[in-house]
Amino acid sequence: MDIASSSPFNGSGSLRIAIQKSGRLSEGSLALLRQIGLEFETYRDRLFTRCRNMPVDILFLRDDDIPEYVRDGVADLGIVGSNVLDESSSPVNRLQLLDFGYCSLSIAIPDQSPITTVQDLEGRRIATSYPATLARFLKDQGISAESVLLKGSVEIAPALKIADAVCDLVSTGSTLRTNRLKILTTLAKCQAVLIGRGEPDPKKEDLVRKLLLRARSVQEARRYKYIMFNAPESALESIKKLAPGSRSPTVMPLAEPGFIAVHSMVLEEAFWDVVEQIRACGGSSILVTPVEKFVR
Ligand code: ATP
Ligand code: ZN
Repeated sequence: MDIASSSPFNGSGSLRIAIQKSGRLSEGSLALLRQIGLEFETYRDRLFTRCRNMPVDILFLRDDDIPEYVRDGVADLGIVGSNVLDESSSPVNRLQLLDFGYCSLSIAIPDQSPITTVQDLEGRRIATSYPATLARFLKDQGISAESVLLKGSVEIAPALKIADAVCDLVSTGSTLRTNRLKILTTLAKCQAVLIGRGEPDPKKEDLVRKLLLRARSVQEARRYKYIMFNAPESALESIKKLAPGSRSPTVMPLAEPGFIAVHSMVLEEAFWDVVEQIRACGGSSILVTPVEKFVR
């Protein structure tokens, strides 16, 4: 379907954001668009929806088509897996990694396969929906193998004897286990990416910049926790080092003399270490909340 000519918003000057219509990236994409402040309804079977509070249209598409739509300027922004971008030849700008849709593109072999190393793939047949990415990998490894192009159900190819290995997306590995396959090697770690046009529309640049700042603030916020606790005033210097926040912690006197309440942001990855050290400094009543947005 030609969305460019069928959209009543075509030529309206609205910014268009393309996301996956239905699939593994849909929920995360919708959640991100709402977190950056877009208000809209989603209707089943609709190709697009218009935001209530901003001149933005959201297009619902097959994920594989999103890079082309962005390249052609039908959409100004898009959300798609990095695996699709690596496979696509459309030049688009990767604006922001989005921290969802995690998976990896891996080569897997049957549990009982005689193949034990990547070099053993020489002369074998590998079923995949990612022929370009696979070809690049094989070339880098100096291996010549035949790729068998399948659009879906790649994992059953070895059982059907149409391939000796598969090159497919894996997240938990349960599909592989069900099909008695195991990973031989991983070609790429993948996640959802916000993409934009190589040559942005100058009339929409300001809005793109605004939305990108918001998307980055949401991403940044996810890396932190907001922490509040009580501590003896004498521990303040140690606490400043432990939980410096973005500039320095907020410190308020408690009604009880000699005690303070401290508010700060702590990186999620260091969180438990920091909490233990705060406790060791006499910190107590530690409250922790997620950070929704963080604008630097
Ligand atoms: P469409 O109908 O839009 O073409 P699809 O079947 O190609 O859908 P999905 O299976 O919904 O796509 O996957 C969409 C994206 O989700 C993938 O391209 C990948 O980036 C990501 N993803 C995350 N985990 C997995 C997984 N276990 N298997 C497949 N894709 C995954
Ligand atoms: Zn797809």
